Amino acid sequence: MSSSDVASHYNSVKQSGIAERKGSRIYHLRNINNWMKSCLINDGLKLLRDDCVYEPKILDLCCGKGGDLRKWNNAKAASVVMTDIAEVSIDQAKGRYEEMKGRNGNPPFPAQFITLDSCNNDLLPHIDPSFLPIDLVSCQFAFHYSFVDESSARQMLRNAVSSLREGGLFIGTLPDADRIVWAARSASDNDNKWENRVCSVHYNASSSLDNPPLFGAKFDFSLDEQVNCPEFLAYFPLLVQLAEEEGMELLWEKRFPLSAHQYLKNTHERNLLYKMSGLKVLPQEKNTAVKEEFEHVSQWMDGDEIS
Ligand code: SAM
Repeated sequence: MSSSDVASHYNSVKQSGIAERKGSRIYHLRNINNWMKSCLINDGLKLLRDDCVYEPKILDLCCGKGGDLRKWNNAKAASVVMTDIAEVSIDQAKGRYEEMKGRNGNPPFPAQFITLDSCNNDLLPHIDPSFLPIDLVSCQFAFHYSFVDESSARQMLRNAVSSLREGGLFIGTLPDADRIVWAARSASDNDNKWENRVCSVHYNASSSLDNPPLFGAKFDFSLDEQVNCPEFLAYFPLLVQLAEEEGMELLWEKRFPLSAHQYLKNTHERNLLYKMSGLKVLPQEKNTAVKEEFEHVSQWMDGDEIS
């Protein structure tokens, strides 16, 4: 398993249209993930505003197809660096950016697109100096890939923080290693494989589940029957320690279910979920089709309903 396998996987993922996405069994799960990213980014922006930064310079590390470009527009970004290992994804991100140009042909913000394996290269020399220093680095659903081995994790982390200004922020989301280990341990068939109707997780590292390695703890993950490339557990306290060694300080850590509960207490975030998901009611309210999917999602997240 190497970075080039990850690149090949993401380069071969086909882009689905809106109709196809709406018909997908994980339509709402995608919406929740997207909503959580928006809430997290808003949390980061609030902190930056407290620091009098109103038009932040952004680095979207492992940006994929550019799904967060509109969020950077809403964030009133001064500039955005988008980087990913997968060339096809970067091309799609460029396409999305082009579509954001107004009638006058002007883009909403200057952007730089960089195809780079951030586990094995220094990113900083590739960034146009006018895009530096970065105020906010965002790495969404991707950092765990670097936990394939120690040098990759350290390199990815250096790339996340070396372009940050003093007091800049690094935010991100990643699979919950504790939750995955718990699920694999509770697997009934003793094959370290846990599944529900939406996703499956198979712990596949050579060392036993009783003592997962700090790096290289491989698991196979499939969502809505699409098998992903192998992923790796990122043990959060270890990530915090590595980040501290790079001069970072942990401000907050939140698990998805708890965050969802907290965000839904705020009118703004609640309305945002309605807007992003198209839902008029929350899952536990009377929409049973949606409720079922949310139950699978929340069962995966914490065995708990989002309410
Ligand atoms: N951040 C995007 C989002 O939230 O939609 C994409 C998330 S996708 C699950 C994970 C991304 O990480 C993929 O686009 C993949 O190409 C990227 N990635 C994985 N390993 C990488 C590496 N070594 N360097 C750069 N990008 C990498």
